[in-house]
Amino acid sequence: MATSFDVGQMRVHLLDDGTFITDAGNLFGGSRKASIKGAMHPILIEASGDLVLIDAGFGPELPEMLEGRYELRRDENLLDRFDEAGFSAEDVTHIILSHLDPDHVGWALNPPSFPNATVYVQEAALEEAREMPEKDGRRAAVPAVERGVEEGWCVLLDGNSEVLPGIKVEVRPGHSAGHQIVWLEDGDDAALYTGDLAPAKIWLDPNLIAGVDTDPKAARRNRIEVLSEAEDRDAPVILYHEPQDCLVKVRSEGDSFKAVAFGSGE
Ligand SMILES: [Zn+2]
Repeated sequence: MATSFDVGQMRVHLLDDGTFITDAGNLFGGSRKASIKGAMHPILIEASGDLVLIDAGFGPELPEMLEGRYELRRDENLLDRFDEAGFSAEDVTHIILSHLDPDHVGWALNPPSFPNATVYVQEAALEEAREMPEKDGRRAAVPAVERGVEEGWCVLLDGNSEVLPGIKVEVRPGHSAGHQIVWLEDGDDAALYTGDLAPAKIWLDPNLIAGVDTDPKAARRNRIEVLSEAEDRDAPVILYHEPQDCLVKVRSEGDSFKAVAFGSGE
């Protein structure tokens, strides 16, 4: 599988922050005697002098509130991958967080590991996180985001925005309030980062909705709309939690979608 690809003049690198194993019940609700495995693939974009990271893994350690529920497996972490790709944390200028779950914000917030980066968060995601129960993972991100806003390294967005030319965030709630996906565009070339709207191949099915989704109806509707657009544009799609081949194209099949290999003419 390619670990880098181009979108027009932009170079996109698929990184890795290890994998997690959790009980399926933690994602689907109820108790099911099955475990599910997910990877974490933050992406790094070289865009005319800027270096943009999208989502940021779990961070140095599994957060305390997830101990016992999640198991984190990795030989190398996100910062090791930076080294291998020839970058350092100091080089990152922008970080886009799809939402505030701990498996997406780790290295960006706890502790902040990119000293020269501005972090972009949707205000609605922060507001929702403030209202979550005390021990919730999203709630845990609130103090760091508030400190970042105060200190000037975190910017709150209110809706769709073009963070840099050709790097467009689009609010597509459902998994969380203020959940944002990212379109990379240059001329006719485009790629899509879905975040947790459709984080792995199994989630390409709009009828499979996670128990952890804040608004299941919105998640379903947004998933159909966004994946349809990706198919129409023939855009590669980056699946953050997909353990295998996280770069795919999508094709509709009945009332669902399937992944086809990136680069396949199918
Ligand atoms: Zn996630």
